Amino acid sequence: MIYLDNAATTKPCEECRRAVSDTMETAFGNASSLHKLGTASMQIMSRAKKTILAALSGTKTPLDGTVIFTSGATESNNTALLGAMHRFRPHGTKIVSTAIEHPSVAKTLTRFEEDDLKVVRLAPKDFEDFTGALIDAVDENTALLSAMAVNNETGFKIDVPRLYREVKRKNPKTIVHIDAVQGFLKVPLDGDLISVSGHKIHASKGIGALFVKKGQNILPLISGGGQQGDLRSGTEPIELIAGFEAAVKAYRGDPKKFAELKNHLLDELNKLENIGINSDANCVPNIINFSVRGVRSEIMLHSLEEDGIYVSSGSACSRGKKSGVLGALGVSDKDADCAVRVSLCADNTAEELDALCQKIAKTIERVRR
Ligand code: PLP
Repeated sequence: MIYLDNAATTKPCEECRRAVSDTMETAFGNASSLHKLGTASMQIMSRAKKTILAALSGTKTPLDGTVIFTSGATESNNTALLGAMHRFRPHGTKIVSTAIEHPSVAKTLTRFEEDDLKVVRLAPKDFEDFTGALIDAVDENTALLSAMAVNNETGFKIDVPRLYREVKRKNPKTIVHIDAVQGFLKVPLDGDLISVSGHKIHASKGIGALFVKKGQNILPLISGGGQQGDLRSGTEPIELIAGFEAAVKAYRGDPKKFAELKNHLLDELNKLENIGINSDANCVPNIINFSVRGVRSEIMLHSLEEDGIYVSSGSACSRGKKSGVLGALGVSDKDADCAVRVSLCADNTAEELDALCQKIAKTIERVRR
């Protein structure tokens, strides 16, 4: 098997699997219980929060705030946006975002529009300096800016630290939410609210986190027993949390190696005819989107699958639906119909990419015959 669909999900690493299994066996207590087993679970959770906070901060000064665990980034994004909503009206009614957000952000913003809030969605294709354009769009009426650090379809990235710094300079009251699902452990981050997901970094599905900066007052999406400072009720899945922490610590993605692999793939693809590259230099190197003109995405995907090569035809979350996101990133409709997304992890090799390109060449030949 050649797995090249790591932006959809990753294989849980051995460290994660071991941590999940060990925790199930030895620390299965309810973190709210007052006995020793409960305390042990609480300690695992506190340690995991620190690890994730440090990983979010990168090498710079630690982010000042807390981390709450969620069921994944869909919940983190919903909690961030809906949880901040109660603060919108006193401070302004405008929300700035992008036309390339994941549906968990995009559809929540649509709910805001239905509630008569003004949402401005900027498309990267319309601007040379997209980070600058987002900053320019913020004014004294902007209650919230929500943007993804790295786009899941092409790897297009924004400069998050600059965005955060300059938005705060323009309007300190604007809440900055960053969907960092594809950017976590890959690009520098900052923000008032930051969403991440475990299964994109070799932890399990069903676990995510939301960073909440100190002083940011959000309301919970899920009410109940008051766990996690009443920000996210529900008995905490300590085993998944331990697995998430283990995966963060064990993360081996190396941007230099990704860049070498990306260059290798581009060199090989350029030897074929009718290839369009949709991921430019402003994209993270672990996501490479390209179009094989004349071969529809689904046909290519299933042809590759015959040889045990797994890629995506776009975002796995928008299964079967045409991706408006690629259009907003400047990819023509025709090229979007033929788009293939290759997304790498630390285990991928140049040989695997060679096998991919050989099969692509064979598929092109077969389709043209
Ligand atoms: N945000 C982005 C950018 C994503 O790529 C995804 C999943 O593909 C999500 C949010 C949703 O994450 P989860 O699957 O953890 O709900």
